[in-house]
Amino acid sequence: MEVANILVIISFITVVILMLIIIIFGIYMFFIDRHQKQHPVLRNYPVLGRMRYFLEKLGPELRQYLFDHDNEAKPFSRREYQHIVRKAKYKRDVIGFGSQRDFQEAGFYVSNSVFPKLTEEVKMDRKTKVRNKRYLLLKDPLFTQREERMEEHESLAYLLDEKDTIIIGKYTKYPFKVRGQIGMSAMSYGSLGERAITALSEGLGMAKGTWMNTGEGGLSDYHLMGNTDIIMQIGPGLFGVRDSEGNFSWDALLEKSKIPQVRAFELKLGQGAKTRGGHLDAEKVSEKIASIRMIEPFKSVDSPNRFKDLADFPSLFDFIEKIRNHTGKPVGIKMVIGNQREADELARQIKELNKGPDFITVDGGEGGTGASYQELADSVGLPIHSALPLVDHALKKHAVRDRVKIIASGKLFSPDRVAIALAMGADLVNIARAFMITVGCIQTLKCHSNVCPVGVATTDPNLQKALVIDEKKHRAANYVIAMRKGLFRIAAAAGLESPIYFNRNHIVYKDETGHIWSLDEIYESIVHGKKTLPNTNG
Ligand code: SF4
Repeated sequence: MEVANILVIISFITVVILMLIIIIFGIYMFFIDRHQKQHPVLRNYPVLGRMRYFLEKLGPELRQYLFDHDNEAKPFSRREYQHIVRKAKYKRDVIGFGSQRDFQEAGFYVSNSVFPKLTEEVKMDRKTKVRNKRYLLLKDPLFTQREERMEEHESLAYLLDEKDTIIIGKYTKYPFKVRGQIGMSAMSYGSLGERAITALSEGLGMAKGTWMNTGEGGLSDYHLMGNTDIIMQIGPGLFGVRDSEGNFSWDALLEKSKIPQVRAFELKLGQGAKTRGGHLDAEKVSEKIASIRMIEPFKSVDSPNRFKDLADFPSLFDFIEKIRNHTGKPVGIKMVIGNQREADELARQIKELNKGPDFITVDGGEGGTGASYQELADSVGLPIHSALPLVDHALKKHAVRDRVKIIASGKLFSPDRVAIALAMGADLVNIARAFMITVGCIQTLKCHSNVCPVGVATTDPNLQKALVIDEKKHRAANYVIAMRKGLFRIAAAAGLESPIYFNRNHIVYKDETGHIWSLDEIYESIVHGKKTLPNTNG
């Protein structure tokens, strides 16, 4: 028999065998589906019904890449995502052919001045520069990959003028002096992998004048890699500052405070997406994570949803005072505001007891890198635009605003959003997810599962290979610099010499009918509960 004929027979037999396997497998699945008790669709439509689950699984990707409009999708629309990536990659953010914002929708607007400040009239540090890398786009063809190369680039760091330095804890032994108003929100090592934390630390260090919050997972070597300023967060689990019994360790705290980059401490009372205690599965507690958090390796660990011994403001303020005296460094609190009464009580007690935090991080419910419960993330605590005015107003009312700085966090990823938060009462802002995007996040929304496909929110060494620190650190630096530049630009447009001068008068709110609300009117509405309160979530 000829070789060709033999090959035809072999191919035929292979195809028949394959078809038989598929048919047998199909029949097998048919019986499995028909007799399972969990899914009614599969009981009525065995095998075929599986298409529904397949398409449902692919849905987020299909919507993200094919069907969603540029301004749709949560948490970040394509337009918002690209806004962040452009800043990080190219250190620029010029758009063509106008805005895509829906001007019919309600939202905040910055009031521009008829006579904006000229560039030379803007008050900023004109000496400090940053030399790093950015991408240069060469060609962007339709069918092949875009051509671009990295180039060295020097720019101003866009820091505040030295005289405008923001001082946190001015009565402490070691006040924290800040020359940029944008920093990185709390993201723990463990929640993000070591490569992501290192790239962010190095990028922020390069950008200068910014800070990194460790998150409640404790201070790791990776946070220190870039020599950027650090706010060390302490959560109810006391990770990184506890003894073998799980009690607060003053020795461990002192040790951390001696690290020069650690500029301040923050007690986490609540966080937008996580007004709850924490849980870390045993398999996630590696030797490294265990040693940083000062817990036992490969053993599940729970943290309560409140510091056990701190159940009221006096006990909280006493603890803050002790930490401040022990370390000489400023101490703040991170909280989610639920209503005006609590904000008012906080400010009243600061005044009455003559002690309290050096800064308050007001967290809206908009954020959250880690695992949370849907009902808490969606409905517990106020979003940042409602919460900020309450805190600012309460501190002013009780005449303690001058000694407490406010840091705002809650999806403030663009200069206009930062400007609005500053006008609402914040001194500084924290950003989390936009920083994750600078180091590669593509929004697959799997941060809680340790299977992040781009190596950002995972400690899996194999997945982390996707993240190249030497490339991503430049993006983190570029993003901060471009944000600060944009903030100066928007301040100049509002007729201000510096973004530190933003106040209520520089913002208006336009509702769906086109009616304009001043921020004072909104304050009145929120603080005094007037019935005319507009929808301020825009
Ligand atoms: S890519 Fe997905 S899993 Fe990774 S950080 Fe982004 S949202 Fe989280």
